[in-house]
Amino acid sequence: MSDTYAEAKKFAEEFVAPYSKEIDKKAEFPKESFEKMGERGYFKLLLPEAVGGLGKTLLDHAEVCRAFAEGNASTALCYMMHNVALMCVMSYGSDQMKETVVKDVVEKKRFLALAYSEFGTGTHFYKSEIKVRSSDNRVTFNGVKSMVTSAENASYYLVIAPSINVKDGVDNWLFPLGTPGLTFQMELWDGLGMRGNISCPMKIDDVTLDESWRIGAEGTGLEQVLTAVAPPFVLGLAAIYAGVCQNLLDIATRHAKQRVYPDGQALCNIETVQIHLANIYARAQASKLFALEAARAAVAGEADALAKIIASRVFASESVIECGRLAMRVGGGKAYNKHTEIERLLRDAYAGQIMAPSVDVLLVWLGKALTDQPIP
Ligand SMILES: Cc1cc2nc3c(=O)[nH]c(=O)nc-3n(C[C@H](O)[C@H](O)[C@H](O)COP(=O)(O)OP(=O)(O)OC[C@H]3O[C@@H](n4cnc5c(N)ncnc54)[C@H](O)[C@@H]3O)c2cc1C
Repeated sequence: MSDTYAEAKKFAEEFVAPYSKEIDKKAEFPKESFEKMGERGYFKLLLPEAVGGLGKTLLDHAEVCRAFAEGNASTALCYMMHNVALMCVMSYGSDQMKETVVKDVVEKKRFLALAYSEFGTGTHFYKSEIKVRSSDNRVTFNGVKSMVTSAENASYYLVIAPSINVKDGVDNWLFPLGTPGLTFQMELWDGLGMRGNISCPMKIDDVTLDESWRIGAEGTGLEQVLTAVAPPFVLGLAAIYAGVCQNLLDIATRHAKQRVYPDGQALCNIETVQIHLANIYARAQASKLFALEAARAAVAGEADALAKIIASRVFASESVIECGRLAMRVGGGKAYNKHTEIERLLRDAYAGQIMAPSVDVLLVWLGKALTDQPIP
C-alpha cells in the first residue's frame, strides 16, 4: 500500500465518507470535504514543489482518486476534475496564467472544474458549437455547456470552444467564476447517482475575456485534450470506479457476516453468497491493479500507456456495475430498501460508462489505437 493511498484513505474515512448520505439526498456539493482537502494540500498534489506544490505524479493522482472514491464517488470525481484542469493549465498555459492560478490554488485553496460537454456534441466532448467572436484582443463567447461538475463552487472552468482563425480547430480557455455573463442552472441537476457532483448546465451569455485566458496557441486545443486532459481524466475514472468496487466489496462482505437467520446461519455461510463475494473481490482487485498499472506505465512514459489507461477505465466502469448488481443480490431487500449503502453505490456506478468519452467511444478509440489508426 503506498503512503499516498494510506493517507488519502484515512482522510476519506474522516472527511469524505461521513457526508455521503447527505450530499446524495440533497444533491449538494461536498463543501466540507473540499474545505478540508484545501487545508490538507490536496489541491496542489500535482503542482511542482518549486511553485509550492507537492510534486506528485499521475500514480499519486490515481491513488488519491481511488482512496477518496472508497469514501464517496462524487467527491472523488469533483476532485479528479480539478487535477485534470490544473494539469492542462500547467502543461500549456502562459507564465502569467500559471502564476495567477498557482497562487490561487496554493495560497487561497481554490480549485478548478471542466466545462466541455454540450447538449449538441454530447459525448464527443472535444467538439464545440458555442459561438465565439473577437474584437480588439477580446473574445466574446455565447452558448451552453450541458453538465459542469462542481458548478458554482470551482473558481475556474476549463472550457473548450471553436477557434476563430484556425479552421476546424478548438481552443481551451479558462473562465474565472464571476465573469459577467457566466451563470449556472442548478435547478436542472437531478442525476440518478453522483448527486454530489451537481453537474448542471453552465450558461455563457456574452462572456468576454482577454486573449490571455486562452491556453496555448490558437488551434492547439485538441492536442492539449489528447496529451494533458484525456490521460489523467480517463485514468482518474478508472481509479474512482475501482474505489467504488472496493467499497461495494466492503459493504457486501460486512452485510453477509452480520445478517443472521433465526437458525443461527449467517448469509456468508451460504455457498452462493460466497461465490458472489468472490466475484466482487476478483473484479475489485483487477480494477485496482489495472488502474495502478496504467498509471505506472504513464509515469514511466511507456508506449502502451494510453492503451492501458483506456482499457483500465473500460474495465473498471463495467466491473463496478457488475459489482453493484452482485452486491445488491447479497444485500437482498434490505439493500434495495436503502438499509445499506449498496443502492447509492449502484446508482453512482452507472455514471462510469457514460462520462465522456463514453466507454463505447473509448472502445472504438482503443480498437483504432491497436491497429495504428489515428484517434479520435
Ligand atoms: C455524473 C456526470 C458528471 C459529468 N460532469 C461533466 C463535467 O464536469 N464536465 C463536462 O464537460 N461534462 C460532464 N459530464 C457530461 C458527460 O461527460 C457527457 O458528455 C455527457 O453525459 C454526454 O451526454 P449525451 O446524452 O449528449 O450523450 P450522447 O452524445 O447522446 O451519447 C449517448 C451514448 O451514445 C453512444 N455513442 C455516441 N456516439 C458514439 C460513437 N461515435 N461511437 C460509439 N458510441 C457512441 C455512447 O455510448 C454514449 O454514452 C458529466 C456526465 C455525468 C454522467
